[in-house]
Amino acid sequence: MTANAANDAATILIVDDNPVNVGVVVDHLEGEGYQVLVALGGYEALERVRFARPDLILLDVMMPDLDGLQVCRRLHADPPTRDIPVIFMTALADVTDKIAAFEAGGVDYVSKPFQLEEVLARVRTHLALRRARQDLEAHTAVLEAEIEARRAAEQALRYLALHDPLTGLPNRTMLMDRLQQAIAQARRDQRQVGLLLMDLDHFKHINDSLGHFIGDELLEQVARRLRTVLRECDTAARLGGDEFVIAAGALHGPGDAEQLALRVLKVLDAPFMVQGRELHAGATIGISLYPGDGDNPAALLQAADTAMYQAKRRGRGSYRLFSRDLSIAAERWHALSNDLHGACERGEFVLHYQPQVSIDTGEVTGIETLLRWQHPQQGLIAPALFIPLLEEHGRMVEVGRWVLHSACAQSAAWQAEGLPPIRIAVNLSGQQFYRGDIVRTVREALERSRLAPELLELELTESLTLDDGEATLRIMGELKALGVVLSLDDFGTGWSSLGYLRRFPLDRIKIDRSFVRDLIGDQGTAAIVHSILDLARQLDLDCVAEGVETDAQLEHLRRERCPTMQGFLFSQGVPAAEIATLLAAGRPKPRRITG
Ligand code: C2E
Ligand code: CA
Ligand code: CA
Repeated sequence: MTANAANDAATILIVDDNPVNVGVVVDHLEGEGYQVLVALGGYEALERVRFARPDLILLDVMMPDLDGLQVCRRLHADPPTRDIPVIFMTALADVTDKIAAFEAGGVDYVSKPFQLEEVLARVRTHLALRRARQDLEAHTAVLEAEIEARRAAEQALRYLALHDPLTGLPNRTMLMDRLQQAIAQARRDQRQVGLLLMDLDHFKHINDSLGHFIGDELLEQVARRLRTVLRECDTAARLGGDEFVIAAGALHGPGDAEQLALRVLKVLDAPFMVQGRELHAGATIGISLYPGDGDNPAALLQAADTAMYQAKRRGRGSYRLFSRDLSIAAERWHALSNDLHGACERGEFVLHYQPQVSIDTGEVTGIETLLRWQHPQQGLIAPALFIPLLEEHGRMVEVGRWVLHSACAQSAAWQAEGLPPIRIAVNLSGQQFYRGDIVRTVREALERSRLAPELLELELTESLTLDDGEATLRIMGELKALGVVLSLDDFGTGWSSLGYLRRFPLDRIKIDRSFVRDLIGDQGTAAIVHSILDLARQLDLDCVAEGVETDAQLEHLRRERCPTMQGFLFSQGVPAAEIATLLAAGRPKPRRITG
């Protein structure tokens, strides 16, 4: 190792009151390439160190003003100078003096009169030691920073593994863990644990029609509100989608759980403001309890799920406690859900057709296509039972496409048999409207069947129009451009806003069955129907009254100048062959043809 490389211009301070000593050492060290500073007394030494920060100090012990031991002690007491190695130069031979030198903080000593080679050797050694120590410290600092970074990353990972990233609520894993703890605690305290499973009533629709961005923000706001109803021993979690769970510990019984459910429903009842829109989420809650409904988290979750399904079927915006009877109904529901898998491919769906009749002339003016499921064991199943399942499994787009193609083909087939051309209506679900490429599907169905577009009517439900934004308008416009007829189904049941009747390119409205049912005997309903018909005439919209079952209803509608009716009074939905017979028979007067 060359002197220069080893010294790397290290600075050495020599402190000695004897200039002769100093001179000899300085010459020698400078000859080795060190930078050398000199102090001729204790105080001067302290002053020098303060400004020059040498890498090593050679320090005489015996000095008149401040002796070397004191200088060393002071340097050692001060953090910035503590680490500068001090080598004493001493003429004292007594062991106790040498010990005192180490106690004062010195790292080594050389005895006077000294050999210059020895001084140099010790200087080199201590400089190297110091450098090694500094390297080690720097290295340790890097290591510590790395460890800290890793710890932070692990913590973030653990957080991610246990929380829902969107709402920051615990996720399923953490919920199950908390639930397990709550159960153990309840077992010790002779208390109960409640599990509330809820899902938002209108979330799917909001998400589909207004977009994920708004859907996500709604979920965040829901999470925020949920937190406000929790006690310390409760955990709210998000399982995914719009499914939230609350695990409530230390309950006295079902009453406490019901109280909590009511608080949740109440806190979600007020409208949410999302991106300047007022949205109503609402929730349905299923409740299960430990120990009554299960003794482990999975069983409780299953039971709460069952209860929630039942609550939904009874009407949204409510809660329901689990009971064994529910479980049996739920099993049936799940079985049906399983059977539905592949039903389309197996050809189990069939279409029925219900005529629409001119009230004036009794002529059949249109036909509505109604979907049915021919279940291999349970027979014909109504759409109200399985369409929600299809939507839940995301199959409605595909089944809806089949309905559209089949209905168009059927209508073309009737014409090919020589029957008079008749307008055929097909129901569209929200999912088809927003998730599928509905415009293309309709165009293809028309092309393949060669059906004249004005003979195809698409029934849109009012809930579709919740979003009166660009997307809905654009899709409706494109459908209109194909030449098809657009009607608004179940009119009067949704978030009726009369504004969109004018804005949307609609051709007809269908007065919901519930109004026709209460038409006779309820003046309020009669007044509403009167206004709807009035409005339709003013906006130049065609109008159909649905669910006409009695002559009295028909008479009333005739007096109100409602142009068209549809209902059991004339016919329920029937297979295609019966429609062919009906069309072939010409223009029958309205009458009951099926019971
Ligand atoms: P909707 O569009 O309002 O269809 C009319 C429903 O009212 C049909 O029930 C029909 O059988 C029933 N109905 C007709 N006249 C009377 C009457 O005088 N009295 C009574 N009580 N009911 C009458 P259905 O076939 O059970 O269909 C129920 C709903 O399922 C439909 O309501 C429609 O929203 C939906 N749906 C049916 N087929 C399809 C389809 O292919 N696609 C979609 N997306 N939805 C469909
Ligand atoms: Ca309909
Ligand atoms: Ca309807």
